[in-house]
Amino acid sequence: MSITQTREIAAAAKLEQVRYAIRDLACFADEVTRQGHKILPLNIGDPNVFDFETPRHMIEAVYKAMRENKNGYAPSSGIKEALDAIRGEAARKGITTVRDVFVTTGVSETVDLCLTALLNPGEDLLTPSPDYPLYSAVLAKLGVPLNTYDLNEEDGWQPDLADIKRKITPRTRGIVLINPNNPTGAVCSRAMLEAIAELAREHNLVIFADEIYDKLILDDDRCIAMAAVAPDVPVVTFGGLSKNYLAPGWRIGWGIVSGDAAAVKPYDEGIQKLLRARLCANHPEQYAIKAALEGPQDHLPVVCQKLRSRRDLTVKWANSTPRVSCVPPRGAFYAYPRIDIPEGDDVFVRELILQKHVMVVHGSGFGQKPGTKHFRIVFLPDEKTLEKAYASIAALLRERYQ
Ligand code: PLP
Repeated sequence: MSITQTREIAAAAKLEQVRYAIRDLACFADEVTRQGHKILPLNIGDPNVFDFETPRHMIEAVYKAMRENKNGYAPSSGIKEALDAIRGEAARKGITTVRDVFVTTGVSETVDLCLTALLNPGEDLLTPSPDYPLYSAVLAKLGVPLNTYDLNEEDGWQPDLADIKRKITPRTRGIVLINPNNPTGAVCSRAMLEAIAELAREHNLVIFADEIYDKLILDDDRCIAMAAVAPDVPVVTFGGLSKNYLAPGWRIGWGIVSGDAAAVKPYDEGIQKLLRARLCANHPEQYAIKAALEGPQDHLPVVCQKLRSRRDLTVKWANSTPRVSCVPPRGAFYAYPRIDIPEGDDVFVRELILQKHVMVVHGSGFGQKPGTKHFRIVFLPDEKTLEKAYASIAALLRERYQ
């Protein structure tokens, strides 16, 4: 037998652009863990890692479905009782022009599928900066260049309307709005939603309204659904069980297509085609959707109360620590403090893992205005754990930059 030289199998060139800082960083942290250190993960928005549990009645619903052998494939759009429950939820959100609903393997799959069904090479999609990196990863996979609009830190991280207007080109097909926002925790005002809807009308854009955190509101306001404000505009609203219902591992998300019926029809047929091509979403877990949306909601005030207290602690710490400042988050469970340091935020974050065994994500992993530096904190852990983490971050800032 002749010995042949190893020839590497190259990954597709377009993957060069695929980054997912939140999990990419975990590979680095794994090395530190192997050296025997315990890392505090403030990088991934997984409530079940901390003191949050999936509501019992949802677990029972899935268990019952499994015992009844609902373990085969489901219809491609999702099981009927889940679709009915999602339509009910759309009505409660004030969405009156629902044209279609479908269930996916997490909102991650909704995003992948809805962007794939819309975009041709040479076209683009407006995404926020800072961004939840799933969007840029999917666009890279599709070979679609990034066209980002700024979120304005000076304006409580609201979308910068003037920047959106500047960035719309004849090739722009849609705009992504994450509300409540990851990574900033900002919640959009009705006036802002109306202004974005008006731009979408004018330029024939599809709005992707990522409202996966819509029940995790920490102040007196509420999350207004984009599709309720803009019933005539093509909107796909994203929701799921991962955050509001504390079951990210079940991988259940959904999309609600709304807007003028004739306008959205061909696009929705494209979505349906892709839904069929991938068979179906997880089947037994779909039985938790009706249980979640129509069953007891009493976990929500408890979750929001914990998050409020942890948010307050985070903001108080950030705004009393030299070199750190933070716009108070009003929804979800992320804070995006600014840091004033002479080196890159990626360098700081790596040192934080190495020296203090605390993992946050560097702002450059989400995008930020040139010259500014940030990091994203997940404030899901209890107060004692957070206090310890914040003391470590403050200590590293002192040790490194004083
Ligand atoms: N959209 C946003 C804004 C998110 O923060 C996340 C997860 O963190 C997702 C979508 C993906 O959610 P899922 O677990 O449903 O795939």
